Amino acid sequence: MLIEHLLATKGGDVVTVTTDTTIAAVVAALRKHGIGAIVVSDDDAATVAGIISERDVVRAIADRGAAALDEPVRDVMTADVVTCEPNARIEDLMALMTDHRFRHLPVVDGGRLVGIVSIGDVVKVRVGELAEESRTLHEYVISGR
Ligand code: AMP
Repeated sequence: MLIEHLLATKGGDVVTVTTDTTIAAVVAALRKHGIGAIVVSDDDAATVAGIISERDVVRAIADRGAAALDEPVRDVMTADVVTCEPNARIEDLMALMTDHRFRHLPVVDGGRLVGIVSIGDVVKVRVGELAEESRTLHEYVISGR
């Protein structure tokens, strides 16, 4: 399956914050939306300036204590963001996420942010595909055709 098909089902909404948002506000947004990472953008989600995940927040608080909550996102985010395009295949994303050890991939089309895919989305699609394959094979074995 292609990413654009996944986005057609789950939608292209992406929660973003700006580089000067505080970590306290990021924590509140992660909680409010029930998500694990937020894309950082200073131009109203047009382009990606970075990504901040719950892992970055935990690391900052472990290193600097509660004072980290007052820091701006730009000091804590990952600026070198790996993205994918809508015509990428789910299998390619699985390899990318495994190789880089992260769980979120912003989807960019012609330089513009058009969605985000999490490892949960990828696993859901793969489990569905494998179940369908299994059902087809089962029918083939039972019916002999
Ligand atoms: P995650 O597993 O997605 O919660 O993120 C683990 C680490 O990778 C954190 O430091 C994130 O900022 C970073 N990260 C997450 N997604 C990406 C991405 N697409 N490109 C680059 N770094 C990322």
